[in-house]
Amino acid sequence: MSSGRSATGGGATASRDVAIIGVGYVGLPTAATLAHLGHRVVCGDTDEARIAALRRGEMPILEAGLEQLVRAGMAAGRLRFVTSAAAAAEGAEFVFLCVPTPQSDDGSADLSYVEAAAREIGPVLAGGAVVVNKSTVPVGSTLVVERVLGRTDVTVVSNPEFLREGTAVHDSLHPDRLLVGADDPEAAARVGRLFAGTGAPLIVTDATTAETIKYASNAFLATKLSFVNAMARLCEAVGADVRDLLLGLGYDKRIGFDYLRPGPGWGGSCLPKDTAALLRIAESAGYEFPLLRGVVSGNEEQIASMVDKVVAEVGGQAAGSVVAVWGLTFKANTDDRRTSPAVDIARRLAALGARVQAYDPTVTGLATGRPPADLTGLELCPDAYEACRGADALAVLTEWDEFRRVDFDKVRDLMASPRVMDARNLFDPAALRRRGFAYTGIGRR
Ligand code: NAD
Repeated sequence: MSSGRSATGGGATASRDVAIIGVGYVGLPTAATLAHLGHRVVCGDTDEARIAALRRGEMPILEAGLEQLVRAGMAAGRLRFVTSAAAAAEGAEFVFLCVPTPQSDDGSADLSYVEAAAREIGPVLAGGAVVVNKSTVPVGSTLVVERVLGRTDVTVVSNPEFLREGTAVHDSLHPDRLLVGADDPEAAARVGRLFAGTGAPLIVTDATTAETIKYASNAFLATKLSFVNAMARLCEAVGADVRDLLLGLGYDKRIGFDYLRPGPGWGGSCLPKDTAALLRIAESAGYEFPLLRGVVSGNEEQIASMVDKVVAEVGGQAAGSVVAVWGLTFKANTDDRRTSPAVDIARRLAALGARVQAYDPTVTGLATGRPPADLTGLELCPDAYEACRGADALAVLTEWDEFRRVDFDKVRDLMASPRVMDARNLFDPAALRRRGFAYTGIGRR
């Protein structure tokens, strides 16, 4: 197997027929990017409501710039939506699998969606097609897809995705690198050429290494976050300030600033399940991976310590208290609440007997209706002020920009007791204290 690094940049590529299976947080930005790069893209998804909305030009997810890119692709006649994987894959030269790989009960990645999609497209694939696995999958999954497809005249390659929710369009148009894992270098080169217009460097390796790189990347990001959260706790213990500590670290080019902001714990649809899956992979291979175990348990401690901080703010007893929560998504600029630490913390507080009045800019429409299953037990509020009415403490759990523009005099007057637990270090402690608040951040004096 050849392994190495080359550039995809420069030169126009011929337009190709591409199918995208699964138009979620990964599939939709990928589809819109490929259409933008001049390819003819057909997206297939089993969610009929999602496809109907997309045909009307309505986005099923919140992503900056996505609507414009999708609408431009549709207007150019290069982006279409159909309601099945087979209908999308028929006749395509490249078929991207972008379906979920959620966490199974034992921590491993559940491959059932990938297998179902492969089973569906197998019979309709054109001879010579390349099936591209973009879903995050354990080592060996390329072989699983090959077996389920049951075709000897098509090639399966691994092409892990690294985009970040909230900046998915930017990340798809300008990826740091493209990674293709394949036993067939020609198939890898063909996939690389599809993205030539992005100018990103192309790393070609074998499928096993590509699959491992994706997990390594997310495990490393989780490690940075657990590290900085641990340092924030140490700062509290020794009386140091984590914000200045991070300046001191970040300007060191070997360290940098990215993924070094303390928070309520890491979450989202990827890091928790991917670290769990990597631990399972390591375990099956006979390696304990104590470092990564510490990263995961450190995150559990962080989430639990956020609950403790809020309980301390309301006098040590959550039962009977009223807690305002700002932010429910796992981070700002996305509507994704999958494995969100904010939801976890809010629900733990509710389970301890607090009345939790929660606001998030992406759930305002839900404030009047029946709450979705993951938010049961919380009282959803239409704005940040309403959440604070009569509250004994405010917990800031997601770093939405609009929270920076809130009138804190109004917040203070609405609250029963003006206390802020700022799990994102959004606010200036001195400024809030001057306004009469008791303030606790993360790792701050
Ligand atoms: P998602 O849940 O947002 O979207 C998946 C889509 O696939 C849904 O619309 C679903 O209806 C559809 N689907 C499921 N089975 C199907 C089938 N048989 N045929 C057609 N459509 C089907 O998921 P996502 O967040 O986009 O994640 C997809 C994969 O990408 C996962 O493996 C994930 O780990 C990986 N990934 C996600 C991110 C991220 O930030 N979300 C980043 C990198 C990699």
